[in-house]
Amino acid sequence: MSDPIIRMQGVNKWYGKFHVLQDIDLEVARGERIVICGPSGSGKSTLIRCLNRLEEIQQGRIVIDGTELDGDLRHVEQVRRDVGMVFQHFNLFPHLTVLENLTLGPIWVLHRPKAEAEAVARRYLERVRISEQADKYPGQLSGGQQQRVAIARALCMAPKIMLFDEPTSALDPEMVKEVLDVMVELAGEEGMTMLSVTHEMGFARRVADRVIFMDGGRIVEQNTPDAFFDNPQHERTKLFLSQIL
Ligand code: ADP
Ligand code: MG
Repeated sequence: MSDPIIRMQGVNKWYGKFHVLQDIDLEVARGERIVICGPSGSGKSTLIRCLNRLEEIQQGRIVIDGTELDGDLRHVEQVRRDVGMVFQHFNLFPHLTVLENLTLGPIWVLHRPKAEAEAVARRYLERVRISEQADKYPGQLSGGQQQRVAIARALCMAPKIMLFDEPTSALDPEMVKEVLDVMVELAGEEGMTMLSVTHEMGFARRVADRVIFMDGGRIVEQNTPDAFFDNPQHERTKLFLSQIL
């Protein structure tokens, strides 16, 4: 792959004695949409958290858009500006309004003037169809609305890469679609690189360029969604798919 935006080479990570990521080699092209799936505990969250250094690795290399994640704090700051993340449990600031949640990073990290940050924030709130909630607090919103705020908040930082860690798995079933619709729309935009850990296989079929299956800290199998779902190669993949489909 020429000029990948993400390069993981020989990545190994341990939690104490537990070998959580094993010999991970992964290159992601600019603008590529990747879905990562696999059983609980297989290392999916750990893998994507390494990409913005929420977790450190003990072996191997990670390079994000030319910046090596090597422990140099300036590199970490650079990468965190380039990489937005959306978590299972939203992680909004409960004591700040929706609008304040969205402008905090742009004002304090990107040093944008307040008025400009608010204008950008309102634009993204409109895009995730939640503009009327700007002055509410997260606790006053439904889970689906909070997750859409979390997505808008990440987008306000103008990231090159968006990471989603099971963004719909904590939601009531009737709210899953409103969040997936926003993600599908985002995936349709030119240039955004997206890695989503999710078991929403309809979403994977619709938007993924590549599906990656993890088990036991390894990438076991990867393929286009059609090939992955219709013709899985490994026994572990077949077992996993038989359990979730
Ligand atoms: P997944 O997202 O695929 O469910 P995780 O990456 O969260 O998997 O976790 C992989 C394994 O590492 C699990 O067995 C989990 O218990 C363990 N683990 C995760 N975080 C930590 C941690 N901070 N310390 C020790 N073990 C951890
Ligand atoms: Mg996880």
